Amino acid sequence: MEGVIAIVGRPNVGKSALFNRMAGRRIAIVHDRPGVTRDRISMRIEWRDRKVDLIDTGGIGLAPGERSGDRITDAALDQAQLAIEAASVIVLVVDVREGVLPLDLEVAERLRRSGRPVVVAANKADSGEEVLGSNAFARLGFGRVVAVSAIHDRGIPELLGAVEEFLDEDGGAEDTEEEPLRLAIVGRPNVGKSSLINALDSSKRLIVSEVPGTTRDAVEVPVVIRTGEELERYLLIDTAGIRKRRRVDDSVEYFSVRRSEEAIGRADIVLHIFDARDGVTQQDKKIADIIAHHSKACILVVNKWDLYAGEVERAAASRVRSRKPILASFGDWVRQQMFFEDHAPVIFTSARDGSRLDSLLDAVRHVADQLRQTIPTPILNRTLHDAIESQQPASAGGRLKFYYATQAGTAPPTFLLFVNRRELFSPQYRKYIDRTLRRAFGYEGCPLRIVPKSRPRTIEPIRKPKSGQRKMLP
Ligand code: GDP
Ligand code: GDP
Repeated sequence: MEGVIAIVGRPNVGKSALFNRMAGRRIAIVHDRPGVTRDRISMRIEWRDRKVDLIDTGGIGLAPGERSGDRITDAALDQAQLAIEAASVIVLVVDVREGVLPLDLEVAERLRRSGRPVVVAANKADSGEEVLGSNAFARLGFGRVVAVSAIHDRGIPELLGAVEEFLDEDGGAEDTEEEPLRLAIVGRPNVGKSSLINALDSSKRLIVSEVPGTTRDAVEVPVVIRTGEELERYLLIDTAGIRKRRRVDDSVEYFSVRRSEEAIGRADIVLHIFDARDGVTQQDKKIADIIAHHSKACILVVNKWDLYAGEVERAAASRVRSRKPILASFGDWVRQQMFFEDHAPVIFTSARDGSRLDSLLDAVRHVADQLRQTIPTPILNRTLHDAIESQQPASAGGRLKFYYATQAGTAPPTFLLFVNRRELFSPQYRKYIDRTLRRAFGYEGCPLRIVPKSRPRTIEPIRKPKSGQRKMLP
């Protein structure tokens, strides 16, 4: 069984705050887009060398913003059921300030009957006195109550430790060796592609292993990316000798659309490099078009930010107090220009002074994790069921009925949706489903393949895809 941690509890006890805290810094890197991560349901996190799915069931069964009324009870019980079905360990979140409420007892009762391992997180224990208050939750009947404060970042290691004991008991969750993802670095001539690779290489953040020379046009060079303590393997697609070009600057000659296309076609993740001074040019749009056409994950990298920031600062002189607002609006602008890649993280770098290279590599790892995540089948189905129930296609052609969905593959994430009539899936409706999946599961920078299939009534057993496995569509 995979390691799946589900967070359950009444609304407003702090589930999403805790989710963000437990997921840690991984969530923070796509900083230009608040809102995307806020109502996310699931996140694959890396924890002691293994990949664990963390799920906040709080949003499921409730329309966005729906936080009161009878629906709450139903939704909370529904969420508990879902956690029982999907999780190897359940974190039941309660509020020390409110004490034990009837709904806490009801949810606890369900969880207890299932026999699943449960850790109680007594949240909002911001002060010592409130920590003592967590003792009251022993009456929920679970062995472990951990006092935490999601807001003040207290007790999180203890909570993770308690959860981990159960993950170990579960036996599974060990990381299977995954095939390295392929990275391509593309962009117009002179935007700084080779400078970036050099800067990463000389900073030892990107460790390029020397492989025997080859006469082919493009080779895959194994590299290791270092972010903090962590190392991760990738294959860098080297079109026409990245290693050679460290010495010879023949960048203008190097570029051709055909070569970028070839690199893009072979990649899993494309780093699309821009020159901050030029913004988004026609040629960039052509490249973006190719990336979208090939369904590749993508990170938009605005390089030479040192120059751009300098110019803006000079122009605006004293009016500019902080560079941050400029950064954010420039990011938005880039994304607008690249509207078909509007899910992609935008990272600002300077290959010259080496700034923000860590953000770039963080983004690569983040997108790689997103690309490889597998959504637990019950969560996927509940999410899509809710979405389709709450918004039908705008067509007079009949009612869309959703039977079930399954994730057929990763890199790119591929979802088969079995419905009564797939012709009801207009391009607009597909976009809605795309947005729904992104809101729930993130997928920043990743293309999503959504494949509706007509299936009148019969239901097949659901086969769970193995993570990292590449599967072709039938
Ligand atoms: P959810 O509905 O269970 O996902 O709860 P949220 O994460 O949205 O949090 C609900 C409210 O509780 C928000 O206003 C949070 O700021 C607040 N909150 C969450 N964790 C803490 C905490 O540790 N201490 C305090 N004082 N407030 C918290
Ligand atoms: P490529 O053709 O995309 O590989 O671009 P190069 O790496 O050869 O860079 C083209 C030119 O831009 C060179 O003169 C670099 O020194 C310069 N350059 C690259 N990155 C930066 C940067 O971040 N800031 C500044 N100011 N110049 C850069």
